[in-house]
Amino acid sequence: MKKDKIILLKDCFYIATFNDNDDEISGQDILIKGNRIERISKDIKLSDEETNNAEVIDCSHHLVIPGMINTHHHFFQTLTRNLPGAQNAKLFDWLRSLYPIWEKIDKNAIYWSTLLATAELLKTGATTTADHHYLYPSHFVGDIMEIQFNVAQEIGIRFSPSRGSMTRGESNGGLSPDSIVQDKNEVIEDMRRVIEKYHNPSPLSMRRIILAPCSPFSVDKELMIETAKLARSSGLRMHIHLAETKDEEEYCKKNYGKRPLGVMKELGWLGEDVFFAHGIWFNNDELNLLKETNTGISHCPTSNMRLGSGIARVREMIDMGITVGLGVDGASSNDTSDMLGEVRNAMLLQRIRYGPTGLTAREALKIAIKGGAKLLNFPELGSIEEGKGADIVIFDMDQLQYAGSFSDPLASIIFTGFNHQTSYTIVNGEIVVRNGKLVHFDEDEIAHRANEISKNLIT
Ligand SMILES: [Zn+2]
Repeated sequence: MKKDKIILLKDCFYIATFNDNDDEISGQDILIKGNRIERISKDIKLSDEETNNAEVIDCSHHLVIPGMINTHHHFFQTLTRNLPGAQNAKLFDWLRSLYPIWEKIDKNAIYWSTLLATAELLKTGATTTADHHYLYPSHFVGDIMEIQFNVAQEIGIRFSPSRGSMTRGESNGGLSPDSIVQDKNEVIEDMRRVIEKYHNPSPLSMRRIILAPCSPFSVDKELMIETAKLARSSGLRMHIHLAETKDEEEYCKKNYGKRPLGVMKELGWLGEDVFFAHGIWFNNDELNLLKETNTGISHCPTSNMRLGSGIARVREMIDMGITVGLGVDGASSNDTSDMLGEVRNAMLLQRIRYGPTGLTAREALKIAIKGGAKLLNFPELGSIEEGKGADIVIFDMDQLQYAGSFSDPLASIIFTGFNHQTSYTIVNGEIVVRNGKLVHFDEDEIAHRANEISKNLIT
């Protein structure tokens, strides 16, 4: 029988457990066996046999926290970041300028953009990620999800992508060219296929599917209803962009006679198995409805600032008990996949709206860790506790960027720091970032290939 791999995190300078008591402890060891945390205690001794099978990491200068969970992204957009024509546009204009470029994506673009996005996520502290892929150009031949799952497995990230969809093209009142929308039946058939082929519902699954029409202005009601039926009969999460901009609100009022959340209510899209990206423009009644139905929000502060979309009412959502997770959003509106940077922006943005207590560093981290675990339905992730999944990120605090901030080592990585990179990232009991570098890929090659493909797309 194959022996479980062992990792021993020795003499940790500071561990923020994010357990139910929010315990923060110093000078303890963490023993990982297989894909779970086996023990947390002072001075753990390994047997001779265990020592032969173990990697011991000296954590005496390190902050150790649970892996963060990115709940919203569009990996393909990493190849079209920072485009001058889309740098200063609001959402609908931004989309119109990018769709014709995105339409050209091929298998290579999917492969290298997935690698680039997941590399950045792992290096900045995310151990699990969603991806909302809604772009299926008519010329594309191949299985996008197969490429993405293979990359996720090779690089070592826990992956819960969405089978996204767009069925409403320009000729039918939508924003996107007709060449990148699909027929409703084609979408449903493919959703069934990917669930059957890839979805693994086990507690520490590395492969989970989410069903996610793109937005109220890019799909038809029938698809929304069918998607909800399929998701619920398969035990899947459901996701969509919602209440992101005032333009979207106007679109919904004009085309459906309702505000965005009213449309969701009519279509059966509320519940603890549903989470919306952005959720900026909810009124008080709508926040109450989210709370009553346990519907969640993926907050994307950087994208919201970048596109000038608005400030989500996260402070109030948390106080009401609404589940909020964090998402870096697509890399054409962030324009990074910097997970720790997103936590910092979440904290700062709430303070613009609510003052200096708008969001604390710990609350912002909690959203990124526990909120994400709840939205993506991973109850065995989101804390450092014996028996929990071994998804852990480790920051070397003995660096210029954190100097002078040790009065609060946990808040230090949010208030200070400028590169946001982990020293080690452990996913499912495997070290996938070691000494700040990806273990399984050459980072220079990823950058080089992504640049080549990006150049071909935009010229
Ligand atoms: Zn998005």
